[in-house]
Amino acid sequence: MAQRILVTGAAGFLGSHLTDALLAQGNSVIGIDNLSTGSPANLAHLATEPRFELLEQDICKAFDPGPVDFIFNFASPASPVDYARLGPETLLVGSAGTVNALNLARKYNAGFLHASTSECYGDPQVHPQVETYWGHVNPIGPRSVYDEAKRFSEAAVMAWHRYYSVNTHVVRIFNTYGPRLQANDGRVISNFMMQALAVEPLTIYGDGKQTRSFCYVSDLIDGILRLSKSPEHGPVNIGNPGEFTMIECAQEVLAVTGSNSEIIFKPLPQDDPARRRPDIAKARELLQWEPKVSLREGLEKSLDYFKACLHPQG
Ligand code: UDP
Repeated sequence: MAQRILVTGAAGFLGSHLTDALLAQGNSVIGIDNLSTGSPANLAHLATEPRFELLEQDICKAFDPGPVDFIFNFASPASPVDYARLGPETLLVGSAGTVNALNLARKYNAGFLHASTSECYGDPQVHPQVETYWGHVNPIGPRSVYDEAKRFSEAAVMAWHRYYSVNTHVVRIFNTYGPRLQANDGRVISNFMMQALAVEPLTIYGDGKQTRSFCYVSDLIDGILRLSKSPEHGPVNIGNPGEFTMIECAQEVLAVTGSNSEIIFKPLPQDDPARRRPDIAKARELLQWEPKVSLREGLEKSLDYFKACLHPQG
């Protein structure tokens, strides 16, 4: 049955793809975004869609869009460069903002899915990361504004479930990429793709032996929709277990773009996790989900988008 669904952070990379998927299922969607890192361009194709509306609002301030059946809480700066720039805002959206969204879910008896993150595992000492691992997080370092906000949000979501019986879900999202990833957000995929297409040097931070596991956006959204309909309340990892060093990632980008950019090395940011890879056994079993798109395929699917970012007029 069609639902009225609230998506916070709807103008962001993931929020906008989620909005598209929910509309495609016949639902109506109210998006909320203060556009601090999201972009109206991500929703421009919905300008004449009667089942969608965007409220330009900060979820840290009280808001009430009327009764909703489900809330997807995706509002937050998410790239290390963005949350370093917007430190206090990131802490607030992941605390006051999450609580405001949870109170709405409680008021309207709506389901709730919170976008959490592999950053909850910090610089992990358990590999691959299982949901039962409590993590290795620096609570006062430069990444703490993001990591601790997301960890507080998880605690809040569990509390609103336990104390107020809200039907909550928590997805721990691993590095995700695809069209609409901000071209200038400083993340590795956007940096490498833009650098390769501009035939500028690819900037590897540190020795490039640190690893990440990259999930294509359509796989992630599929997993999230499945989790939203499941009876599971504990956190579930959604990510692609294919693990790449940043050197390998650079080589994949060079192969896909056909670029002959050189590779240069720059200092490693503080507290940059040495490795990251999801254990997805829980998602496989509970949601019958697993990713389908390899890094090579996903980069190919993203190529036209990044080309358009490089030449916005053409
Ligand atoms: N990175 C890099 N070059 C860049 C941007 C990032 O080598 O131009 C590295 C970064 O140090 C980290 C990894 O790529 O080890 C992933 O960084 P990203 O900012 O994409 O997200 P993170 O997984 O750290 O949140």
